[in-house]
Amino acid sequence: IWTSAAEHADYIFALVRTDPAAKKQLGISFLLIDMNTPGIEVRPLLAFNGKRLWNQVFFSDVRVPRHNRLGDENQGWTVAKNLLGNERFMVSRVAENKRILSRLHELLASPQQVDIVLEADFFKRLAALEIRLGGLEAMASRLLGRFDSGLSIGAEPSMLKLLGSQLVQELDRLLYEVIAYCGLPLDSVSRPDDPVPVCSDSSDMIASAMFHHRGYTIAGGTSEVQHNIIAK
Ligand SMILES: Cc1cc2nc3c(=O)[nH]c(=O)nc-3n(C[C@H](O)[C@H](O)[C@H](O)COP(=O)(O)OP(=O)(O)OC[C@H]3O[C@@H](n4cnc5c(N)ncnc54)[C@H](O)[C@@H]3O)c2cc1C
Repeated sequence: IWTSAAEHADYIFALVRTDPAAKKQLGISFLLIDMNTPGIEVRPLLAFNGKRLWNQVFFSDVRVPRHNRLGDENQGWTVAKNLLGNERFMVSRVAENKRILSRLHELLASPQQVDIVLEADFFKRLAALEIRLGGLEAMASRLLGRFDSGLSIGAEPSMLKLLGSQLVQELDRLLYEVIAYCGLPLDSVSRPDDPVPVCSDSSDMIASAMFHHRGYTIAGGTSEVQHNIIAK
């Protein structure tokens, strides 16, 4: 379940139990599976906005050649931990945060904003988030430097994932305040007969993205799990 973009994928990886008697993290192997293998079925999972953001992937009697195993048999969790570190680094979302920030500045400067009254502390909150984004980018660059030098990586990817997802959601909040009442209708979904957006042509997308981005707290490992990793 929740397999993003499975409908486009050539390969999927799966962590499969290969030793039922071993304790939890042991006895798991990491397989790379060709999506054209007989027995694989991809069913769409529609999000609240009607979009196909995820899938359910079913495996029925799927056979995978032994050479498609990555790493040693029963050592799949070690491979997965590395992969999760890379994923969390990727989802530090520096670029995405910058894109949201520049959208925010564009909208603030647009003439459509004349009727919208912002909270008194709006620009103070915006400045604080811009500073945090600068910190996130510096931290991500430092981690990239460590990767490049072959130095060991600790809980930094978890820190980046946590900070990046929180920042996206807080910037979304500001973006939503800026589009104000324009954010209310999800035009193309809730009013399919009248797909013309009410306000800015991006208000539909902004409102939809704000809800979609709530999932960043969960995707790639939940915030609670990241807190645990950092604490250890
Ligand atoms: C937008 C989105 C995209 C996704 N894309 C993919 C994808 O492409 N491929 C894929 O494989 N998966 C994908 N997922 C699934 C995602 O990785 C999992 O949902 C996520 O890792 C959480 O696991 P879970 O759903 O099993 O929750 P659980 O682990 O069951 O957690 C349930 C609750 O218990 C808490 N919890 C669990 N363990 C602990 C702990 N040790 N300490 C404290 N609290 C704990 C969690 O924080 C959470 O609140 C996606 C999810 C989302 C939302």
